[in-house]
Amino acid sequence: MAIVIGSGAGGAAAARYLAESGHDVLIIERGPEVPGKDAGHYYANVDAGVRLMRTFCLGGTTMVSGGNALRCLEEELKALGIDLRDHYAAVEKELDVQLLPDDLLGDGTRRLMDAACRIGLPVHRMPKFINPDLCCKDGLCAFGCPFDARWSAIKFIRKAEEFGARVITERVADEVIIRHGEAAGVRCGNEIFWDDRVVLAAGALETPGFLTALSLPTAPLFADTFVSIGGYLPDIGMNRDVPMGAYIPFDGGIILPHYSRPLHAIMNDKGIPAQPEDIIGMMVKIRDEDFGSVHETIQKNVTVRDAGRLICGSTYAASILTEAGADPATFVTTPLRGSHPCGTARIGVSVDLNLETAIPGLSVCDASVLPSAPGAPPILAIIALARYAVEKMNVRDQRNS
Ligand SMILES: Cc1cc2nc3c(=O)[nH]c(=O)nc-3n(C[C@H](O)[C@H](O)[C@H](O)COP(=O)(O)OP(=O)(O)OC[C@H]3O[C@@H](n4cnc5c(N)ncnc54)[C@H](O)[C@@H]3O)c2cc1C
Repeated sequence: MAIVIGSGAGGAAAARYLAESGHDVLIIERGPEVPGKDAGHYYANVDAGVRLMRTFCLGGTTMVSGGNALRCLEEELKALGIDLRDHYAAVEKELDVQLLPDDLLGDGTRRLMDAACRIGLPVHRMPKFINPDLCCKDGLCAFGCPFDARWSAIKFIRKAEEFGARVITERVADEVIIRHGEAAGVRCGNEIFWDDRVVLAAGALETPGFLTALSLPTAPLFADTFVSIGGYLPDIGMNRDVPMGAYIPFDGGIILPHYSRPLHAIMNDKGIPAQPEDIIGMMVKIRDEDFGSVHETIQKNVTVRDAGRLICGSTYAASILTEAGADPATFVTTPLRGSHPCGTARIGVSVDLNLETAIPGLSVCDASVLPSAPGAPPILAIIALARYAVEKMNVRDQRNS
């Protein structure tokens, strides 16, 4: 048996692989099950200096993802002794990862890609876990997908259910129960679910609370802090582009074509008469330093190095926007946000190379375990790590049986 707390990228993957390999699995999820198109109503963001983004619903934050499927931290994990190559390949196949096709690249995205090429920057088409045949091209991936064209953790939860997993929604897991020094179950309010294997996958802002309550170590927070920059370009229609159809790596992070909704209000406040369809934008996302904490209050600020990286990326983004035809006098930026909270129960601090804590039977399978800031979309890495961790659990179970 196994109890998995949380049903996002890590929890759904752990549940699926555990169920497929014959374990009785119970998933406990605090949020409700909602139609894909409504997921945007379930943001549970935290204003921590940098605004940290996540959703509380079945499927977790995968329900609002942009479908970006980059491998990350492969070398860093290998240096620690975790070779994810085969797991990445298997996960890419399971999620049907493919480069965003030509007909899903909008005019704004194309213009920015061409502009970046002209000024000599390396532009790559984004690999996506989006089914092009189902994509409705409304540009609203971050608010939920009406046709489930983009892979979400719901697909893995359904797979886990096919193998007998049970799912309880709208139930907050409060505490991991320990007996005789080993994991023994999970308490939700007045009810206890007993099991000798518990997987924490409540996300990097929640998982550390369970560890602290058990006097286990936690680690500071990364979030891949980002800023969006927009300029006025009448009728470009980028608000309907599939977001982040390409990426431009730079030393310190990545830059992506991206229309961000807040840009509209910020421009109007500045007196620029732009409608959403008149805005062209880019996101600058950095590999930030682990300068955040998730103790009594959640805090995340930028360091001097982070600020330098943000300025460097923003300078590139402004050059690309200008080359693409936007008027620099109209450029505005959004406040700082972070959509990849991670690292708070990282490998080598809170968990070992099998993603197990010092308490037998208690593991972590979510963004918390990432050893350093990915500076890139982490879903593939989180799933690949969950697959790897379940493989290790199964090997050990076989040895002990
Ligand atoms: C707008 C946006 C776009 C993104 N786009 C991409 C992208 O294109 N590609 C990519 O790779 N990454 C993307 N990300 C990041 C990615 O979605 C997250 O990094 C990933 O989902 C984190 O996985 P997780 O399992 O750690 O946490 P989550 O997916 O957040 O799952 C945690 C789950 O635990 C539940 N939970 C929390 N506390 C409890 C509790 N006490 N009891 C029970 N359940 C609990 C939550 O409700 C949630 O369902 C995006 C993020 C955002 C915000």
